Amino acid sequence: MTLPRGFKATAEREATRIRHEMGVSEGDPVNILSVAEHVQAIVVGADRLVAIERLEELERLQAYAFSAATFDVKGKSYIVTNPLRSRGRLASDVAHEIAHLLLQHDLTEIREIEGVPFRTCRPDEEEQATVFGGTLLLPRPLLLNAARRGLGPEQIAVAYGVTTEMARFRYTTTGVAKQVLRRPR
Ligand SMILES: [Zn+2]
Repeated sequence: MTLPRGFKATAEREATRIRHEMGVSEGDPVNILSVAEHVQAIVVGADRLVAIERLEELERLQAYAFSAATFDVKGKSYIVTNPLRSRGRLASDVAHEIAHLLLQHDLTEIREIEGVPFRTCRPDEEEQATVFGGTLLLPRPLLLNAARRGLGPEQIAVAYGVTTEMARFRYTTTGVAKQVLRRPR
């Protein structure tokens, strides 16, 4: 799957723009729930809609079948999250859903979970939302700050409340490690 030309650069600019709007500097972390609030999305744990036992049952039947989903109710965007996820995973999931909203993806397919309809996207849009969401969580200036302080992906994950997988993905694809090695302080 290939991203549209210039997509990564646009994602970085958008991450910076949102931080500025929120009064946060581009190299600083943001609480992804505050970003959701900023874009006027309401984050709701799925346990508010269905019993936690049923979510646990679904998880047993098919692990990670349900991470998060966005839907509209009377013109408001609701991001429904899975309360069984770790803090880091939750951050990735919410960031991914915010990305769908900001990218104005046309959510076409409908899936039902426990009788609740959720909309999902095309595979290319899924990839875009993941890349964009990762950029919102860990924009390049933030990673560069961290790398200059000698933090690797594992420490970045702990420091910024994201998964190690996400930290490693961003750390590698942005090339910050190489940049820091080239210009040691
Ligand atoms: Zn998605």
